[in-house]
Amino acid sequence: METRIGHGYDLHRLEGTLENDDTLQVGGVSVPCGLRVIAHSDGDAVIHAVADALLSAAGEPDIGQLFPDTDAKNKNRDSVEFLVEAVERINAGGWAIGNVDITVICDQPKIDPYRDQISENVRRIVVAPVNIKGKTHEGTRGNQAIEVHAVVLLQRGEHS
Ligand code: ZN
Repeated sequence: METRIGHGYDLHRLEGTLENDDTLQVGGVSVPCGLRVIAHSDGDAVIHAVADALLSAAGEPDIGQLFPDTDAKNKNRDSVEFLVEAVERINAGGWAIGNVDITVICDQPKIDPYRDQISENVRRIVVAPVNIKGKTHEGTRGNQAIEVHAVVLLQRGEHS
């Protein structure tokens, strides 16, 4: 049995104030928080980090190479499509996903009330156990950014 580990990281700048009724895409879930992301796509940092972790573990090109923001067809695209394609690519290489571990770092929105919904949404796409936890910037960045780290395990071949 061959195993590989992959790490993905993403950061998006945020704008707006908490009094607005804007939502933020977090793992394919629309989280109401008044902040919106400054990005070419829908700026779903969870989906981007998980896709990059999977692609990286399998030695595939990263999402910036596969879905360049210079390509007009990627503008405002649903990031879930990127993750679906990443999963298809690694499955085509014979890899199965062992598990996905996600850390979201932002002061707002609070991730905890949405963690079950987000992990279930990602789990449906990757078909593997998914854990997600929220951390804060401890006020050091205001509400200016959302950061995500994702670690994945891939497995291929037979048990010996
Ligand atoms: Zn991103």
